[in-house]
Amino acid sequence: METLGHLIDGKLSTQAARTQDVFNPSTGKVSKQVALASVETVEEAIAAAERAFPAWRNTPAAKRAQIMYRFKALLEQHAKKTCKLVGEEHGKIAHDAAGELQRGIENVEYACGAPELLKGEHSRNVGPGIDSWSEFQPLGVVAGITPFNFPAMVPLWMYPMAIVCGNTFVLKPSERNPSSTMFLAELLHEAGLPQGVLNVVNGDKEAVDVLLTDERVKAVSFVGSTPIAEYIYSTANANGKRCQALGGAKNHAIVMPDADMDNAVNQLLGAAFGPSGERCMALSVAVAVGDEAADALVSKLKEAMQPLKVGAYSDSSNDFGPVITQAHMEKVNGYINSAEADGASVVVDGRNPQVAGFEGGFFVGATLIDNVTTEMNSYQEEIFGPVLQVVRANSMEEAMQMINDHEYGNGTCIFTRDGEAARYFSDHIQVGMVGINVPLPVPVSYHSFGGWKRSLFGDLHAYGPDSVRFYTKRKTITQRWPSSGVREGVSFSFPS
Ligand code: NAD
Repeated sequence: METLGHLIDGKLSTQAARTQDVFNPSTGKVSKQVALASVETVEEAIAAAERAFPAWRNTPAAKRAQIMYRFKALLEQHAKKTCKLVGEEHGKIAHDAAGELQRGIENVEYACGAPELLKGEHSRNVGPGIDSWSEFQPLGVVAGITPFNFPAMVPLWMYPMAIVCGNTFVLKPSERNPSSTMFLAELLHEAGLPQGVLNVVNGDKEAVDVLLTDERVKAVSFVGSTPIAEYIYSTANANGKRCQALGGAKNHAIVMPDADMDNAVNQLLGAAFGPSGERCMALSVAVAVGDEAADALVSKLKEAMQPLKVGAYSDSSNDFGPVITQAHMEKVNGYINSAEADGASVVVDGRNPQVAGFEGGFFVGATLIDNVTTEMNSYQEEIFGPVLQVVRANSMEEAMQMINDHEYGNGTCIFTRDGEAARYFSDHIQVGMVGINVPLPVPVSYHSFGGWKRSLFGDLHAYGPDSVRFYTKRKTITQRWPSSGVREGVSFSFPS
C-alpha cells in the first residue's frame, strides 16, 4: 500500500517511524498510509526553509509573483485531478471540491499582486532634508497547520501569500486527507519554486509541537478546531512567535417574519448541508423570529429536504457526501441523540441512512431538529455535521442576544426584507463575518477572513490585506544626507 511522505528541500521522502491510515470516507476503506513526521524530520524541513530564505528574500517580488502566475495556470490545468483527490479522502462531491479549489486559486491571484502590495509608504521632507519610509520585510521561516475540511483551499490561504512576501514555509496539512495538499505543493515546484522555499511535513501533534517551539520558526498560521487553536496560540506566543489561530464555529441565521421564506429555505439547505456541514461557515442554527415564521420555516424545510441525496463523492448527482471518519459519524449521531433526549424534536432524521453500494461509508443524512434551546449541548457545541437546528425567539433582539452570547463568532446571516433591521443587525452583532440574505458570507480573496470571540485567536485575519501584514514586519527608515560642509550642533532634546 502506498505511503505518502513529506516534501522537504524540493524532494519527496517517505521516512517515517510511524504511519497512519488514510480512509476513503465514501467506502470506509483504508486507501493509503501517511507518514507521521518525527522531530528530526520537521527539524530537517525547518533547516531547508532556513537555508532557502536568504536567496528567496532577495529575489525581486515581481519574480516571486511570476512563479505564482505559473502556479495559478497549473492549478487550473489540474483542477480535475485535484478535485478527485479531495473527493477520495474528504468525501466532498466534485462540484463542491471545484468551488473550494476556485476559492483557493483566487488567493493565488491576490498573491500575484505582491509587487503592488509590498510597495510600502513614503514621506518626503518629514524634517529639513529628511525623508522617511516604511517597508514590509519578510519574517523568515513561517509555518502553517491546516484542517481536514478544506485540504486544497486553506493551505492556499497561507503559503502563496507568505512565500510571495519573501518568507519560506513549512506546512503541516491534516493527516486525515493529505494527498490533494501534497499534489498542489508539487505543482508549485513545477511552476519553478526554488527548493526549500515550501516544505510539507505530514504528521500529528509531534510535528506541530516542533513548529511551535523551534526558534527558527518566526510565525504560525493555524486553522482548525477551537481547543487546538487555543493551544497553538498560547504555545506559539509563549515561544515568542507571531500567531493567528482560526478555530471552530456555530453560525446562526436569523429568519425574520418578513423574509422571503422560500428563498431562505433554499439558502439554508446549501449552507447547512453542503459538504455534510463540514464547513466552519456552515449555517447550523436557524433562529426563527415568532412562532408563525418558525412553523412556516420548519414545514418548508421538511418538504425541501425530502429529495436531498447523501452518497459517495464520485456520483455528482449527490448533494453531499460522507463525514470524515467513523468516529466523527458517531459523534454527529451522538449530538442528534442528545438533542432528542433533551426534549428537542427531530423533524427529519438523518441517522443511519442507507447508501446502496457504499454500506461501509461514513454517512449521516440531512437532519432537521426543531425546538432546540440554548441550554442544550447540541446548541452550545460545534456539531460539524449535516444537522440544522431551529431555535425559536420572540424578537430580533432576543435572537441577536443568543448569537452575541454564544462562545463562537465566526459567521452569521439575517434573512429579511427590512433594510433598517439588516443594518442594525450588521452593526451590532458580535460576529466577524456577516451576511444579509447571503448565507455563507465568506469574504472574497481581497478582503480578509476571520471570526470573533473564540473563533479566532490573534489580531490579524487570514488571507487578503491582513495576510500581507501578518507575513511581513514593518521597518521604518528615516534618512538624511547632509549637504557637504554643513555640520549640525549637538542636541539633547527629543527630535521634533
Ligand atoms: P483539528 O483541530 O482536529 O486539526 C487541525 C490541525 O491541527 C491538523 O493539522 C491536526 O493535525 C492538528 N492537531 C490536531 N490535534 C492536535 C494537537 N493536540 N496538538 C497539535 N496539533 C493538533 O481540526 P479538524 O478536525 O481537522 O478541522 C475541523 C475544525 O476546523 C472545525 O472545528 C472547523 O470549524 C475548523 N475550521 C475553522 C476554519 C476557520 O477559518 N475558522 C476553517 C476551516 C475549519
